[in-house]
Amino acid sequence: MTTLDVPTTIEQRRLLVTPLPGPRSRELMSRKQAAVAAGVGTTMPVFAARAAGGIVVDVDGNHLVDLGSGIAVTTVGNSAPRVVEAVQEQVAAFTHTCFMITPYEGYVAVAEALNRLTPGDHEKRTALFNSGAEAVENAVKIARAHAGRQAVVVFDHAYHGRTNLTMAMTAKSMPYKHGFGPFASEVYRAPLSYPFRDGGLDGETAAVRAIDVIEKQVGADNLAAVVIEPIQGEGGFIEPAPGFLPRLAAWCRDHGVVFVADEVQTGFARTGDLFACDREGVVPDLIVTAKGIAGGLPLSAVTGRAEIMDAAHAGGLGGTYGGNPLACAAALAAIETIEAEGLVDRAREIEALMLDRLRALQARDPRVGEVRGRGAMIAVELVETGTDVPDPALAKAVAAAAHQQGVIVLTCGTHGNVLRFLPPLSISDELLRDGLDVLDAAFSATTAGAR
Ligand SMILES: *Cc1c(COP(=O)(O)O)cnc(C)c1O
Repeated sequence: MTTLDVPTTIEQRRLLVTPLPGPRSRELMSRKQAAVAAGVGTTMPVFAARAAGGIVVDVDGNHLVDLGSGIAVTTVGNSAPRVVEAVQEQVAAFTHTCFMITPYEGYVAVAEALNRLTPGDHEKRTALFNSGAEAVENAVKIARAHAGRQAVVVFDHAYHGRTNLTMAMTAKSMPYKHGFGPFASEVYRAPLSYPFRDGGLDGETAAVRAIDVIEKQVGADNLAAVVIEPIQGEGGFIEPAPGFLPRLAAWCRDHGVVFVADEVQTGFARTGDLFACDREGVVPDLIVTAKGIAGGLPLSAVTGRAEIMDAAHAGGLGGTYGGNPLACAAALAAIETIEAEGLVDRAREIEALMLDRLRALQARDPRVGEVRGRGAMIAVELVETGTDVPDPALAKAVAAAAHQQGVIVLTCGTHGNVLRFLPPLSISDELLRDGLDVLDAAFSATTAGAR
């Protein structure tokens, strides 16, 4: 067993004291509608007041079970004790100098930690940024500078962000791209390995299929980088068949193409390995990290082979806030928490518990087409009974029923028919079981009558 250091100030128990959303949340929601741009959506119209362990407390005093971690961000837990302490110390020392003006040790220490922890023992360098999308963009800039080529290959169902270049790299039009073009050029899409939907094509064959598209439609000589999520996040928690990633990485190596792993969602113990690439021993040339990196503070990074990272000229990379000192202090504390609390093992315990429960659900509910994922990144893909036709309405109904009972769950997938679970690794087994009980009941309720 791992030992979890969770602040005890918030009782780790689901508790509803008002219907959801409660009166304070309703009031804040109407202020939000009047003040915040409509394009910024809301999964659950419940406003947060405090959070720790596996619980988010709302402004009405309801205790919600957190199976989302703010989209895989609070992997070490919300307001994790080491993170809080490190940030408090840093905020009192100095808040910002701009690393490009007068540098500070925290940034260098985060770079050293990432160089040490990311896959491969070659010489590495790191650059820090603010968001996942910003880091993905910089990985592409670096790869182009190194390769002296322009094309970038991404995959079906990919999600890489909402900035202009990353919109082009993201697959799904609505809501991420619709009406926001024109998009950046020289971005090409290849077929993924998607075992549930490609007839169980083995990884090697799926990789050869993708490589054929790349060679015929782009040409290796034009290609700077292949960018791939080792397990897709927003696209539906799609785990390519074993052999797919190693084969693709080998092809990139043979053709001087920079192999970029977008581990923004999968990184930092989330998948039961420190990084998802570790499972098959894949060593990316560049790895992009964010989300779980800093316990909730905004930080992202590109880490990779020194000779590739150093290809960009001085002044070509950076940004005013990139590697902010508070975020760096938080990242060092989050990394220390992952190591000290054995959170990689904890993610595997969560995987065992969740897969067990969700496979039991699948056995009695034919609308659960597939249960998949690794570590604390688990999903169920929902289909119309007896078919493989995606059922987004069911995913929406089950999520809404769970929300009503105080369980935060998210949906994803190109068709919106995937329920995904990303609990903080600080959640207790008891809370996790309670959340899954609610989910079970939500499935049963949508069987009867509702549809
Ligand atoms: C969330 C995500 C991004 C974008 O990160 P932001 O911080 O939202 O810009 C990029 N890639 C993947 C795989 C993600 O999950």
